[in-house]
Amino acid sequence: MKYIVGIDIGTTSTKALLYDLNGKIYAKANIGYKLYQDLPDMAEEDPDAIFNATISAIQEVVAESRIDGQQVIAISWSAQQHSILALDKDYKPLTKSITWADNRAEKYARKYKENGKGMEIYKRTGLPIHPMGPFYKMLWLKNEHPDIFNKAAFWVGIKEYIIWRYTNVLAEETSMAAATGLLNMHTVDWDDEILNSLGIKRSQLPDLVPLTHSIKGIRSEYAKVMGISADVSIVMGATDGALSTIGVGALDTGVLAINIGTSAAVRSFVDKPLIDPKARLYCYPIMEGKYLVGGPINNGGIVFNWAHDALFGAEHETAKLLKQDSYNMLTDIAKTVPAGSAGLLFHPYLGGERAPLWDANARGSFFGLNRNHTRAHMIRAVLEGIVFNLYMTTLALTEVTGKPKEILAAGGFVQSSLGRQIMADVYEHDVTIPDSYESGCLAAMYLAKMSLGMESNLSGITKYIGKEKKYQPNKDNYKAYRKLIPIFIRLSRELSKEYESIADYQREFSKIYKD
Ligand code: ADP
Repeated sequence: MKYIVGIDIGTTSTKALLYDLNGKIYAKANIGYKLYQDLPDMAEEDPDAIFNATISAIQEVVAESRIDGQQVIAISWSAQQHSILALDKDYKPLTKSITWADNRAEKYARKYKENGKGMEIYKRTGLPIHPMGPFYKMLWLKNEHPDIFNKAAFWVGIKEYIIWRYTNVLAEETSMAAATGLLNMHTVDWDDEILNSLGIKRSQLPDLVPLTHSIKGIRSEYAKVMGISADVSIVMGATDGALSTIGVGALDTGVLAINIGTSAAVRSFVDKPLIDPKARLYCYPIMEGKYLVGGPINNGGIVFNWAHDALFGAEHETAKLLKQDSYNMLTDIAKTVPAGSAGLLFHPYLGGERAPLWDANARGSFFGLNRNHTRAHMIRAVLEGIVFNLYMTTLALTEVTGKPKEILAAGGFVQSSLGRQIMADVYEHDVTIPDSYESGCLAAMYLAKMSLGMESNLSGITKYIGKEKKYQPNKDNYKAYRKLIPIFIRLSRELSKEYESIADYQREFSKIYKD
């Protein structure tokens, strides 16, 4: 029997899953690490801690599954997008891994938005005008840390760095390169004008390769630690965004993939570059004839976590005593009030927002409170607010892609029946939940099979996804939402005028507040 490891380098942890060639999971491991946020707007990770986490996660799945490690034929990679590290001429990191959540380049993104250059970058590369983009972070480093910028011999993302550590090969696959803002999406090549404007050369960037590209062999000392063969193939894989879309089987235009985990996203594949005139969506080339269009959303399940901790501390304790899931306990409370939360609205922008507002200063709020509202209304409004915001992003997406034929949803939030029902009701559409909970690792495994010649195209992945469940909209509920959603949208425009002032106030006066 042969095996493949699908591994995902996330923002707070690395997950590894060991599969056999039929897609059966033998073991899972999850190793966490720290996100450094010591300075305002900073969000960095230690690349060596992540490297160690990947080694430990692979070692753990091999040991736990009790298979013969020599039969692991490939390791295939998924990773967070938009990270950037500067390396010196000996490939030693000069920076930590500056993640997508780092907003220190905000000033540069704002300047580029105002002078129109950001729109030009967006049209060439598909990268929205936002400090998450490596292009803007490099601009920030060039201006504010020229010592590092000038010393940098190479620029890579975290996945490229880790693969280099395993193989001594510096390569970057299309989807990750696209998310840097340095790759021209029309030619699918590094954009020389953009590189010139930054003052860097092609030789400072990894070689561009397809997602299914594989590198044969890893350093023997690491193979030994993990208990696998040094002949294993390292398959490039892709971004977590691309892989979680492939991994739920949303392969064609008109099929929407919605993920609500800690953060959230709405995505769809299209067959040619698609530009949103308002730059609310990204568009990245992935494979021949496949471009991923989508909106990344900061405020997903993390907002439910906040409400859980801030408003329902006592229930949390009770759930612990009763050994029940406290999130389920909260959704049961939310079910006791009707759809629309009796006119209580919640804007979920606790962590600023990327799509659909693209405003790092956005803040959350309840609107419409009256004396009859209870905590049950508040928790339901929180859940509904998360989905309304997703729906707003979806409207931007369907403006360019057309009406959805199918909606596939995944992530922790849709594991709850209320979460799924709110989605079907808000979208007034059937929502299908595929049975592939770890869709990113599954799709990474599948790319390895394509790379090894065992599968010929993406559509074969559907046989590994498992059973699907369909949820239908409830007529009474969607009537309530149809009246409420326009208020939610109008309100978000009104409130946006005050986000900067309240965020400035919080920065100045709140000691406990951290951006
Ligand atoms: P990640 O994106 O970090 O992989 P998951 O897909 O596991 O995250 O989703 C985690 C989120 O799922 C949490 O932030 C939490 O708010 C949400 N969640 C967990 N349990 C439930 C539940 N029973 N109902 C609704 N949401 C839930």
